[in-house]
Amino acid sequence: MNANTEKRIALISVHGDPAIEIGKEEAGGQNVYVREVGKALADLGWQVDMFSRRVSPEQETIVQHSPSCRTIRLTAGPVEFVPRDQGFKHLTEFVQQLLQFQRENHIIKYPVVHTNYWLSSWVGMQLKALQGSKQVHTYHSLGAVKYKSVDTIPLIATKRLAVEKQVLETADRIVATSPQEQQHMRSLVSTKGYIDVIPCGTDIQQFGSIDRETARAELGIASDAKVILYVGRFDPRKGIETLVRAVNQSQLRNSGKLKLIIGGGSTPGASDGRERDRIAGIVQELGMSELTIFPGRLGQEILPTYYAAADVCVVPSHYEPFGLVAIEAMSCGTPVVASDVGGLQFTVVTEKTGLLVPPKDADAFSVAIDRILLNSAWRDELGEAARKHIASKFSWGGVADKLSQLYTQILNTSILEPMLVGK
Ligand code: UDP
Repeated sequence: MNANTEKRIALISVHGDPAIEIGKEEAGGQNVYVREVGKALADLGWQVDMFSRRVSPEQETIVQHSPSCRTIRLTAGPVEFVPRDQGFKHLTEFVQQLLQFQRENHIIKYPVVHTNYWLSSWVGMQLKALQGSKQVHTYHSLGAVKYKSVDTIPLIATKRLAVEKQVLETADRIVATSPQEQQHMRSLVSTKGYIDVIPCGTDIQQFGSIDRETARAELGIASDAKVILYVGRFDPRKGIETLVRAVNQSQLRNSGKLKLIIGGGSTPGASDGRERDRIAGIVQELGMSELTIFPGRLGQEILPTYYAAADVCVVPSHYEPFGLVAIEAMSCGTPVVASDVGGLQFTVVTEKTGLLVPPKDADAFSVAIDRILLNSAWRDELGEAARKHIASKFSWGGVADKLSQLYTQILNTSILEPMLVGK
């Protein structure tokens, strides 16, 4: 095999470390995506190197996930947490360190680089220019959409929007994780460039491994309780406030049976810590402390138990490019009430696997949650349909298969390209 055709790939995720604990400090869906795609690609015979930025001196520089899959942490900028909006200035060093790693390890080039989030897309564009790597890019979040739903637009916005446009127009392929995301790219970013839709996935063995009764016994939740679950980062765009206000209006509010679990990690003083405090403040103000639990960060091993124990999982995001939590919950047989936005419109089939309601609309969320909580038979029907829907469409194995075919296709195209052959 020559450097162009060998099955070697770099997954680049500058701020979303695939080997880190998930569920706090900006670590969420992207980290899970990169790690699971990386592991599944290795199972398909790819040599997978996943590059991320080192954020603490205690971190190992290399984490081996399986014989052909590893995370490599490069030192670029301070070895400490840097919010993603301030990450751009360290990217030149990141590229240099990556090239240095290649030299030290005799890797002539990565025939394919799959970049994640706009920061990494910039790194990928440099590698494409410097060593002719083919670039595949997944956005995970689009500035053009995100900035519509935030009050303060960060200083880096102009740069981000320009980079996001450039990568769409120059990458060998863009992976949209839902048709809705593809549409946003076309209408808000550029009409040029090649886009494929390949969704995110979930581990359908792990998410679905436990039944509700056992899960409730394990968590000490009464079998007749009505459990509403949120899982995710504390970030205003996640809409947790809408959920809290919706639960406050539930017909079951004073039944003594209602339980609201808000799962996710946070660091005091950091942005997620401030959002957690704000949400806890609203819970207290509404007199809901008795029925609300904040279990903190939920590890991947205990998550299936929480999902299975819940009657309904709520994803109230203002904007959601994909939304892994929704498919994890459904994979566990738990119906989802979600905002009618982005990837959630693609994964949640309203009236079949859950309900879609307008974002930020506490009244609508409250009605939808109650419809499910007040009809146990229908709840179970939705849950069963949800489980089947995910197993047939959203497994990581299936996702990696599609990605692998895509990489092979663009590698083969490069060899046949007359311009390249003539060079
Ligand atoms: N997550 C977790 N523990 C937590 C909270 C979240 O493992 O306490 C995981 C969750 O299971 C999911 C990911 O973080 O895999 C969140 O992904 P999603 O796409 O829903 O949201 P994002 O973080 O990308 O905005």
